[in-house]
Amino acid sequence: MQHTYQSSEPDVSVGPGTTPPNKRKAYFVGSGIASLAGAAFLIRDGLIPGEGIHIFEELKVTGGSLDGAGSADKGYFIHGGRMIEVNDFPMN
Ligand SMILES: Cc1cc2nc3c(=O)[nH]c(=O)nc-3n(C[C@H](O)[C@H](O)[C@H](O)COP(=O)(O)OP(=O)(O)OC[C@H]3O[C@@H](n4cnc5c(N)ncnc54)[C@H](O)[C@@H]3O)c2cc1C
Repeated sequence: MQHTYQSSEPDVSVGPGTTPPNKRKAYFVGSGIASLAGAAFLIRDGLIPGEGIHIFEELKVTGGSLDGAGSADKGYFIHGGRMIEVNDFPMN
């Protein structure tokens, strides 16, 4: 079952192009959270299979500012401990 925010299944017979979702391609520049979130929504709501989504990254480490690294086999790691707190903005 597909989960979408729409009340009914999207009408894929209209709109830009008539390529069925499972044949569509998407390309993202940069592997930051914006691209990863966009890819996830394209899979879930756009019905585009993951194999059709391509993410280009110029660095050796993926994740952009979130410094993500890892693999599907060994798991993923994202550097933490940098949440902005009240101490980062002294009031006096
Ligand atoms: C020190 C720091 C602390 C932060 N703290 C917080 C926090 O506490 N809470 C919070 O919510 N947010 C925080 N943020 C912000 C958050 O990390 C970013 O807003 C978010 O990760 C940005 O995601 P993005 O995908 O838009 O871009 P980015 O994460 O910047 O990803 C862009 C990616 O695109 C790649 N790229 C760029 N140009 C090209 C190209 N031409 N070809 C190929 N690849 C390219 C880059 O190498 C990079 O990997 C912090 C950011 C920093 C740097």
